[in-house]
Amino acid sequence: MAVLLDGKSLKEKITDDLAKKLAKMDAKPCLAVILVGDNPASKVYVGHKKRTCEKIGIKSLTYELEADVSEESLLELISKLNNDKNVNGILLQLPLPEHIDEHKALMAIEPIKDVDGFHPVNMGRLVIGNGDFISCTPKGIISLLEEYDIDLSGKRATVIGRSNIVGKPVSLLLTAKDATVSLAHSKTRDLKELCRNSDILVVAIGREKFLTADYVKEGAVVIDVGINRGADGKLYGDVDFDLVKEKAAYISPVPGGVGPMTIASLMENVLIAYDLQNGKRVSDE
Ligand code: NAP
Repeated sequence: MAVLLDGKSLKEKITDDLAKKLAKMDAKPCLAVILVGDNPASKVYVGHKKRTCEKIGIKSLTYELEADVSEESLLELISKLNNDKNVNGILLQLPLPEHIDEHKALMAIEPIKDVDGFHPVNMGRLVIGNGDFISCTPKGIISLLEEYDIDLSGKRATVIGRSNIVGKPVSLLLTAKDATVSLAHSKTRDLKELCRNSDILVVAIGREKFLTADYVKEGAVVIDVGINRGADGKLYGDVDFDLVKEKAAYISPVPGGVGPMTIASLMENVLIAYDLQNGKRVSDE
């Protein structure tokens, strides 16, 4: 049976360390979270982020906008937060209602406050390998692999799903760690064969239990990013956990794997934003 990649415990460890650093600081970093509409999953995620901020001593401001808010009003709020010296990080919770241009809204966030790392400037920096803000889920996945000393050098990795927020950035980060990466998607041919030849699988597609044991090589590392609400109301990943865990060497569970790591990485990014805006490293204090 596979070793569980326990994101919940690692999140606790990371946030406890951050809380200790923050306790030594006079000023507190501040994260502004913007939530548009009443998507229930988004509300849950924003709640988790807010509670983690409170726990470690980051100030958090939540702006809840009506689903029919105009794009102009949203851009005005982002501009106000960009210019507010007391706000270090701005997070725009996705998805946005259809009438708002997501790209335009993300572009409006100052790159130095873009703690989600979605702005093209930060994405571009990630591509060339010197980014300050690495998007939270991919960053959390790498932290989880590092925590368990999983060597990536020379390994064959397949990432399934090519979104800007998970698949693309995680494939870049794995490449930077010297893995040889295939980025698969819905048009990929012979996906099963590709996966069976991979040492590392990262699955981020949003389909409950898609990755069955016959996709998995004996002893592979399986990272499940998916969050799917099952017919029974419970959360399931993109991986058929019960069967895959018997074949893999390491596996991240859902819940308790990548999800908590995303929040831990966000907290790290808020501190990085604070440092950058204050010309110092928190760890120096
Ligand atoms: P997304 O934008 O929903 O896109 C899905 C990707 O999966 C697309 O690239 C799509 O291919 C690919 N795909 C869909 N069906 C496929 C199939 N049968 N075979 C191969 N590829 C397939 O992706 P996302 O935003 O990254 O979300 C993916 C999942 O991760 C969702 O469940 C989401 O809730 C979860 N998520 C979790 C966290 C976390 O913190 N744990 C964070 C973010 C997202 P095409 O490009 O060809 O359409």
